[in-house]
Amino acid sequence: MIESIDLGTCDGCGVCLLVCPMDVIRVDEGGRYVIAYHDDCMSCFACELECRRGSIRVEPQRARRPSLLVAAAGAIGSTGDARDEAAPKADSHGSGETR
Ligand code: SF4
Ligand code: SF4
Repeated sequence: MIESIDLGTCDGCGVCLLVCPMDVIRVDEGGRYVIAYHDDCMSCFACELECRRGSIRVEPQRARRPSLLVAAAGAIGSTGDARDEAAPKADSHGSGETR
């Protein structure tokens, strides 16, 4: 997650604002580049890598938000459970089904 923008070294080039896919960085009324939406950072490091002044520091920890993959796995799991419950029991196939 983005931790800081060093306004002492930032030259206001605007690259961080352009490369951030989550619109985390904005320009305040004073023309300073600031972290406006900290919790939206997904730790992609684009801003840190592209800042030619080395003014941005990003920590490797991601924001504490539910992972889309985990959410999707949960949805698939619950769908699977529902199907399992609706499906015929395994032993009903092997011991003389009614026709
Ligand atoms: S990329 Fe770096 S130097 Fe440029 S505005 Fe952002 S923090 Fe400042
Ligand atoms: S690490 Fe990525 S998502 Fe976070 S502020 Fe930088 S560019 Fe935006």
